[in-house]
Amino acid sequence: MRKTIVAGNWKMNGTSESIRTLLDGIKAGVPAVDGLVTLVCPPAVYLYQVKKQIGDAPVAVGAQNVSAQPKGAFTGEWSLEMLQDLGCEYVILGHSERRSLFGETDADVADKVAATLAAGLIPILCVGETLAQRDAGETLALVAAQVDAVVQRIGIECFASVVIAYEPVWAIGTGLTATPEQAQEVHAAIRAQLAGSDAKIADKLSILYGGSMNAGNAAELLAQQDIDGGLIGGASLKADEFLTICAAAAESRK
Ligand code: PEP
Repeated sequence: MRKTIVAGNWKMNGTSESIRTLLDGIKAGVPAVDGLVTLVCPPAVYLYQVKKQIGDAPVAVGAQNVSAQPKGAFTGEWSLEMLQDLGCEYVILGHSERRSLFGETDADVADKVAATLAAGLIPILCVGETLAQRDAGETLALVAAQVDAVVQRIGIECFASVVIAYEPVWAIGTGLTATPEQAQEVHAAIRAQLAGSDAKIADKLSILYGGSMNAGNAAELLAQQDIDGGLIGGASLKADEFLTICAAAAESRK
């Protein structure tokens, strides 16, 4: 069975105190279920604090971005070695905010995926279309091209270790959510695309949905055959709501 992953993307939110409180709340109710990964991705400056506070709790830690460069004169960046040093296991890459606000291209994202894998961390590769692209009927082709950029750069084998997050840009932080059918269609298309090269790898790949997933809609989304978890922004900043999504994910494995 594929891994189910519930990942909280805290974006650029919180202070040391509010993060301590949020994590205490998550730790108090996080389910320990075989095959379910609960992951939090705090702002990089709080990774050390968060990792320390987690202790033995079944919560993994991820970063929201990383440089593809190993070290040197890259002011304001951080490296994979630093993330390893802090005990980070996952890195979100190619989030639509990185693509649209910071100009990351498919090629940049593919380089970061390659570097992350080489360092032994797990990339969460974000893909997804804008509303204009969906309205123009370009969703499946666009998402396929975003996935293909990584296949071409690194090879299909890398998807044995990569997690994909399908995040329609129009649903991120907007309160709009893809319907379970819309999300399932894209998830199934991604899996079929990769299955064309390697059916086993495609079958084992965890594909998360992201875009205004919350306590109210998680169960229905997670019940879809090809939705293997969620990448959650706003709703991950409230422990109760995040835990409700984790519980729905645990339930979806039964
Ligand atoms: C995200 O940032 O990856 C995200 C899905 O945000 P939200 O849940 O707030 O839409």
